[in-house]
Amino acid sequence: MNKTPITLKIDDPAPIVSVYYSHAKQRTTADGRPLIKHYPTSFLKDFCDVIEKRGIMGKFSIVPAPGNYGDIVNGIEGITMEEMHEWLDIAKSRVTVRFDICPEMLTHNKAVDLESGKVLELTEREWASTQNFGTLTPYISKALSILKQAGFDCTGVTSPWDFGIQVEEEYVRAISQAMFDVYGKKNVWYFLRALRNTPGAKPWVAYDDGDRCVVSVPATTDDVFWQTINCARTDDEYISAVADELITADGKRGQIIDVLETGGYPIMITHWQSLCSNGLFTGLRALDEVGKRINEHLSDKVEWMKVSDLMRLVLADKSAYPKR
Ligand SMILES: [Zn+2]
Repeated sequence: MNKTPITLKIDDPAPIVSVYYSHAKQRTTADGRPLIKHYPTSFLKDFCDVIEKRGIMGKFSIVPAPGNYGDIVNGIEGITMEEMHEWLDIAKSRVTVRFDICPEMLTHNKAVDLESGKVLELTEREWASTQNFGTLTPYISKALSILKQAGFDCTGVTSPWDFGIQVEEEYVRAISQAMFDVYGKKNVWYFLRALRNTPGAKPWVAYDDGDRCVVSVPATTDDVFWQTINCARTDDEYISAVADELITADGKRGQIIDVLETGGYPIMITHWQSLCSNGLFTGLRALDEVGKRINEHLSDKVEWMKVSDLMRLVLADKSAYPKR
């Protein structure tokens, strides 16, 4: 491999409804504007325009039962089946070309009792903290199954918040079992950890029983786009300043450069709400600018990959990616 892999992980997307709204502690932005509940389908189309134009690749979560509002097979409260299907069809035809699709557990809000379908008092994060292989496996399987039923070929799993971090060994085995049970795949990646300011930050083999493997793919930069949720500025100078945090216009500084300089892989993270910017879409404009700068300055150094490509790279040379 001559070039360093670069990838972008997008957390929290769902058809039109805002998963962030569903679980936000405060229903206003930090500067007092009401949080929006729905994101227009045109936003997904604009996102596709940006990733196609800049060649950006990575993983894209689809929360299968977003916010306890229903699910992507049977319908979601507040939007029509037609609207939901239009969104899912765009994701299928345009997003999957460049991004892996994965669940981010079931709801990214309250946990659900699988047998009765009843919504529990605990968030999925709280629920997971006391679970084990036996209870996590069906929960993850359910999330994967809904995406499979909706026509998506998943390659990995994203943890809502820090889901499973207290029981990570059990969680990792459960991810492997669920992926095998639902899709028959022996290899799977998951996203839980962040490795910021860690020299040489790369993915690692978290589980290997000689037959099946699980690769942990950490984020190695911050979600610099998140700040756009809480700021009403839309001028070009602001957009440029947000992009600067990842890579400056001259390509010399920023978190991506820092990661590359220490021999790590730039594995960027953002959220659907960060790109939507509470309806101003300034985060998406900043992502477009970041993509442009990467192409201008780093095209001979980095290569865009899906997260599953990164997983395959790790599995082809396991000893180079030891468990952390
Ligand atoms: Zn999330």
